[in-house]
This record gives sequence, C-alpha cells and structure tokens, in this order.
Amino acid sequence: MPTALELDAPRCLYTLTATPAVPTAPLGGALRVEVVVVGGGYTGLSAALHLAERGRRVALLEAREPGWGAAGRNGGQVNAGLKHEPDDVERALGPLHGPQLVRLAGGAPDLLFELIARHGIDCEARRTGTLRAAYREQHCSTLRASVAQWARRGVAVEFWDAPRVAAVTGTDRYVGATFDARGGAVNPLSLARGLAAAASRLGATIHSATPALRLERDGTGWRVTTPGGVVRADRVVLATDGYSDNLWPGLRTSIVPIYSSIIATTPLPSPLCDALLAGGCVVYEAGNITVYYRRDADGRLLMGGRGRQHSDAARAHYGHLVRYAERLWPALAAVEWTHWWNGQFALTPDFYPRFHAPAPGLFIGLGYSGRGVAFGTAMGAQLAAAAAGEPLESLALPVTPVPRLRFHRFWRIGVAAGVSYGRIRDRLGR
Ligand SMILES: Cc1cc2nc3c(=O)[nH]c(=O)nc-3n(C[C@H](O)[C@H](O)[C@H](O)COP(=O)(O)OP(=O)(O)OC[C@H]3O[C@@H](n4cnc5c(N)ncnc54)[C@H](O)[C@@H]3O)c2cc1C
Repeated sequence: MPTALELDAPRCLYTLTATPAVPTAPLGGALRVEVVVVGGGYTGLSAALHLAERGRRVALLEAREPGWGAAGRNGGQVNAGLKHEPDDVERALGPLHGPQLVRLAGGAPDLLFELIARHGIDCEARRTGTLRAAYREQHCSTLRASVAQWARRGVAVEFWDAPRVAAVTGTDRYVGATFDARGGAVNPLSLARGLAAAASRLGATIHSATPALRLERDGTGWRVTTPGGVVRADRVVLATDGYSDNLWPGLRTSIVPIYSSIIATTPLPSPLCDALLAGGCVVYEAGNITVYYRRDADGRLLMGGRGRQHSDAARAHYGHLVRYAERLWPALAAVEWTHWWNGQFALTPDFYPRFHAPAPGLFIGLGYSGRGVAFGTAMGAQLAAAAAGEPLESLALPVTPVPRLRFHRFWRIGVAAGVSYGRIRDRLGR
C-alpha cells in the first residue's frame, strides 16, 4: 500500500531511498500522558525524543505519517546559523537572547549529528561541510563579513576564492564562497523515520493518521481530540510549521507556508559524478533567490529552489531547475531527471524562528525559513526543555506572541511578487 507521502508526492526521491518506517497506528480511545506533541516532523519528533530521554510520558500525534511534511521532502542540507549574520542576530535580540540564539543556531548541526550518533540513526549522515556560494562580487563582502563575525566567536568559517570553489563544485559560475565545516547532509526521510524509531524505543507513543482536531483546556491541563480518541496531557507542544492549521487560533495565518521544489537525476555516471561536487559538500547560493544542491549517497544530483506555490507533481513545472543545473554543468544535458517534488515550510517575514507560549503549558516552535533540518531538531530540544518545566528564561529564544500577518490571504501573490523582485534585484546586481 502506498504511504501518505507517496500519495501526496509520488515522485519524491526519498520514498525510494529512505530506510523503512517503524509501524505506527492511529490513536483509538483515550490516552493520558504528561506531554502531547502535535506534528511528526523534526521539531515534534526531536521534542518527543528529548522528552522520552528525560523519562517523560509522551505521545506524538501526526496527521499523516512521521516525515510526511517538510521533514521528509527537504534538500537534506544540514546548515549552521540562521539567514541573518551573528552580529545582526545579537543586535536584533539583545544581550541575553542574541548570543544564546547564535550559539543554538551555530551549534545545531552538532546537536543533530550527536543525536544521530547517540541513537544509531541510519540516514546517510555525512559531515562534509556547507558551501555558501556567491555568483556576484557584491555578495562576497557579506560572505567575508560572515567569516569575520564567526571568527570573533571562535568558529573557523573559511572564505574560498573562485578557483578553489570551481575545483570543488565543478562549475566556474562562482566568484567566491564560504566553507563551513559544521554543515553536512542527511537523507531527510530516513532522519525523520530514525527519530521516530528512537523515540518509540524510549517509550514515546507515536500515532500516525491522527490529526489533532481540537485543543482545549482540561482543568489545569489539556485535552486533544482526534478522529478516533482523546489525549489528556499536562502540557502540549505544537510543531506543525508550514502545515499549521487552525488548531491554535491564529497560528496558520502567522507564517507564510511557502513551497520549495526539488528535482533529482538518476545516479550520475562515474566521470561526471567525480567532477561534480568533488568534496561532497552541500551548496546553497548567496543572493535573493535561494538555489541549493547536493549529491546523494548514490551519486544523484538534487537541485532545489523556488517553484509553483501549490502541491505540484507535473514534471514540466520543474524545467527551470533543470535549465539552471545544465547552465552550471553542461554535461548534465545527457542525464535523465527521474524525480521531482515540492513541499512547504514556514517563512517568517523577518526570517527569525519563533517560540510561542500563548497559554499555560502550551509551547509552539516554528518558522525556520527553510533551514529546519538542524535548527528544527535543536528547536525540538528547546521545546522539550520547556515542556519538562525548565524556566522559559533559560531557553535560547525569547517567547513572543503569535503575530498576525495582515495580508496573509494574499500570500501566494506576495511570494510570486517577492520572487520576481528578487530576480530583478539579482539581475541588476543589487
Ligand atoms: C522542498 C524543501 C526543501 C528544504 N530544504 C532544506 C534543507 O536543505 N535544509 C534545511 O535546513 N531545511 C530545508 N527545508 C526546511 C525544513 O525541511 C523545515 O524547516 C523542517 O522540516 C521543519 O520541520 P518541522 O518538524 O517543524 O515541520 P514539518 O516537517 O513540516 O512537519 C510538520 C508536521 O505537522 C503535521 N501536522 C500539521 N497539522 C497537524 C495536526 N493538526 N495534527 C497532527 N499533525 C499535524 C504535518 O502533517 C507535518 O508532518 C526545506 C523545506 C522544503 C519544503
């Protein structure tokens, strides 16, 4: 029987390459736990796993299956840091939370790779670094500033010149890049399934095909209603990111659920495979329109970027990514592209992740703006700490109210306009 992910994204590569899922069943009947987690992506699974590691009784409710959302369909890039440079983060968040958030985001790959090692998660994890590549000279000043800012914090991010970038990527498009050894790659769906398996082994109960339909106060705790049952819990973690619905008032409309698209080749033949991304690092481009790519464990090229702003299985709509890849490596013209898919993640207008605690015992983490593989996992650990009763002031992110995006109804138009504006800015070199 096809999985929920296969039904929604039939050409998603990871349904072919990921490790099998542990069996999970829908909730039937009543359940009493200390913490109920809603959402089975990295944020929710990591929260459940960290709570189970602390010996807490925890249940996770996932509407489809663990990894069905962005966690099971992303680019598999493990990147350190946020969209903003460390100095900007500290300026924006102040002397308490600024340095804490920089440390959390900078250390998120460490947290992820340690978690993978601790639980023996088989997910093609490799720590071969991240290249942030610039094709315009003016992006290089941002990159050099980034190197200096991380150096002041004791982190050795390197600036590479054009020949060195060309030697590693196999394309001469770039004028420079930063190399960050903290980064790497995973098979995203294997990671999600591995986190689910690890949490289950430690006693967490994971229910798939179990959408949380209603969330209500129940004495001093909470009651979550699903189609087949009810969970009572002292505390609740909401981890629904770009797939947030109306379970908590205003959450769905507090973020932009932007789509990103990926297309993948068949395993590349040996001479081409060796020439392209020789160092095995993952790459994302500096600039307004993010293009990201990497090679997987079988030697396929995965190329990701913007695309249609709706669920889309039509191969024709991924042509721009193929054309861009062929521009980087003309030899790819002879190669077949066998997989294409898209998915949603929560974008916040200021690109800062969000941590909300809008009612007693209710904690929400979301909004990683396309960088949630490492950061979402780290956020899960923060939410687990909050749900385990640690003081909120000790956590890395400030608690903020759930904001209202005034023009949320028009987000598709806004995203399309933003993309065109970004494209114009990139062409003009601004
Ligand atoms: C195409 C694409 C490429 C990306 N590439 C990268 C990358 O290379 N590197 C990187 O760092 N980040 C990347 N991202 C972003 C990253 O995947 C996300 O930031 C991350 O997966 C968010 O994790 P999450 O657990 O918060 O949310 P998700 O993984 O989206 O999980 C949310 C889950 O909540 C469930 N849910 C929603 N409502 C309910 C409900 N009422 N009841 C029960 N369950 C519910 C959904 O079914 C879903 O499974 C990419 C995203 C996409 C879409």
